[in-house]
Amino acid sequence: MRHQGFTFKKLKFASFEFTCCEGCQLQLANRESTLINFLELLDIRNFRELSSEQHNNFDIVFIEGCISRHDEVDRLIKIRRQATTLIAFGTCACFGGVNSMKNKFSIEEVVAEVYPDMVVETLPVKKISDVVTVDISIPGCPVSKEEVERIVVSLVTGSQVTLPKYPVCVECKAQLNTCLFELGEICLGPITRGGCNAVCTTGKTPCLGCRGPSEEINMPAFLELVNERKLNLEDLREKITFYNAFEGFINYEA
Ligand code: SF4
Ligand code: SF4
Ligand code: SF4
Repeated sequence: MRHQGFTFKKLKFASFEFTCCEGCQLQLANRESTLINFLELLDIRNFRELSSEQHNNFDIVFIEGCISRHDEVDRLIKIRRQATTLIAFGTCACFGGVNSMKNKFSIEEVVAEVYPDMVVETLPVKKISDVVTVDISIPGCPVSKEEVERIVVSLVTGSQVTLPKYPVCVECKAQLNTCLFELGEICLGPITRGGCNAVCTTGKTPCLGCRGPSEEINMPAFLELVNERKLNLEDLREKITFYNAFEGFINYEA
């Protein structure tokens, strides 16, 4: 097939959802202005928001959501066997996401509170890489449509897949925003991977770190910034644990 002047083979593509809101898949399906071009790159084998096709061997699989039930573990392992490249798609898949709040309580407490009159099988939340090997991670709650399309083009053309290494602050400063630290807020922009175009901070909402740690995260310097300004450490703890994206970086004395 030819597309914009070059020849390529369509990749057999599937997207599957696990525990999540399906907002990341919706981001792709909703982008009507580029959807047709995007679909021309792919042989859609399974993607329930776009197609009724159902097959079981794939070049690329997007896994959206985290794992929170035994049957999801089995299903994910089966999909991994059927896929050449498995991509953790969105913050829930990459880190556990908002669902990870459940892990702050015992499973018994959670079930009693949320489903008091039902028998519910549920597990502590796991990210996808806790269960199977992940080849590529695309963070974001939701993902950036532009970034996903760019990555798919890289895969189709056999180019290197990259994510921005710089933190959100770089994009925030480029938009000439007043820093929210100057307004007395804690913002995770200095420690979070860029690529969202600082969408939250441009809207005057602090970054909660949905894209996870930036490549050269400097947690001590960030904590010094928070401490120097005598900002609320409970607020920091809530923000930094919100998406479970800083696991391994939060062994600090708050
Ligand atoms: S990462 Fe956010 S938008 Fe995507 S599925 Fe999870 S909760 Fe929904
Ligand atoms: S508001 Fe947040 S993202 Fe923007 S410059 Fe300040 S710390 Fe960085
Ligand atoms: S500003 Fe932070 S929380 Fe908002 S989309 Fe970007 S990385 Fe996610």
